[in-house]
Amino acid sequence: MSRPRSINLLSPRLANQIAAGEVVERPASVAKELLENALDAGATRIELDVEEGGVKLLRIRDDGHGIAHDQLPLALARHATSKIAELADLEGVQSLGFRGEALASISSVARLCLTSRTADAGEAWQVEAEGRDMQPSVQPAAHPVGTTVQVRDLFYNTPARRKFLRTEKTEFDRLQEVVRRMALARFDVAFHLRHNGRQVFALHSAAEDSARARRIGQLLGDGFLEQALPIDVERNGLRLWGWVGLPTFSRSQADMQYFYVNGRIVRDKLVGHAVRQAYRDVLYGGRHPAFVLYLELDPNLVDVNVHPTKHEVRFRDGRTVHDFLYSTLNRSLADVRPGDELAAPA
Ligand code: ADP
Ligand code: MG
Repeated sequence: MSRPRSINLLSPRLANQIAAGEVVERPASVAKELLENALDAGATRIELDVEEGGVKLLRIRDDGHGIAHDQLPLALARHATSKIAELADLEGVQSLGFRGEALASISSVARLCLTSRTADAGEAWQVEAEGRDMQPSVQPAAHPVGTTVQVRDLFYNTPARRKFLRTEKTEFDRLQEVVRRMALARFDVAFHLRHNGRQVFALHSAAEDSARARRIGQLLGDGFLEQALPIDVERNGLRLWGWVGLPTFSRSQADMQYFYVNGRIVRDKLVGHAVRQAYRDVLYGGRHPAFVLYLELDPNLVDVNVHPTKHEVRFRDGRTVHDFLYSTLNRSLADVRPGDELAAPA
């Protein structure tokens, strides 16, 4: 019989690297976490600079409220968050993050540099962490109010993880998709994305309807808007608005389906079922609809934190939501038959 091995406490670095396995899979997941942090900080303008698909460099600059000097090292520590303080705060949490894992995880598998300035501080400060145990020193820096997080050489110290990365193009496509989802969720925020020095998109904040439509066109192509119906229906405290793609714009893959619940993207069974049912009579042959839809309801009637990355939600009254989605979409699509020539919506 073999002898038991002795039990060791993991070093903070190793614990973070293991935890990073859940949060940080690829450049796109880093981008998601950093974008969420920028939005949680109240940013109105977010700039992303990406090199080599995000593996070599991912830099996100925001004009949010920043991080105070004495808080900077804490921001990189595991289980350190400014967004909740006690269990009760989890209920009805409005921020996108709250687990205090992202920066600690990312800095354990990449070279991270965090620069920030708050509105009441005379200067900016910077901390660096390079995959080592967290003892970062804080240095003065130049930066306007807001935060820049720079992530270099993702997985430089974890070759096994790096092996799972795909080509530069694939990684960038996934990263761009993350930015696209966020940009569709937050019309009030400007997003700028550059890859290898080339501008991919520059989206200005879009308050009016026409500006929203323009953003949709920039992100999904004008072809979608030309063959989509704008909808906006409200009933019993439920509101569904957005654009439903006509059957003439169906796709061979379910790759243009954006559904938001109270501003968060979801990929939810109940929602998916309601949408599929509504399209059932107008779409066949394994074709998939394209849509950008926003469901708004009382936050107390939906739990969005079932799982932060899996995009599932739990509705208190799922049946009512399902019926509302189905009947609203079904009615919008009722007059449409596949192959019908339709005038572009005004
Ligand atoms: P979480 O978002 O779950 O709180 P993170 O590790 O992503 O955990 O961030 C840790 C903390 O660092 C946040 O709670 C926030 O206080 C601060 N922070 C991170 N990014 C930013 C940012 N872009 N602007 C302002 N504060 C930030
Ligand atoms: Mg976060």
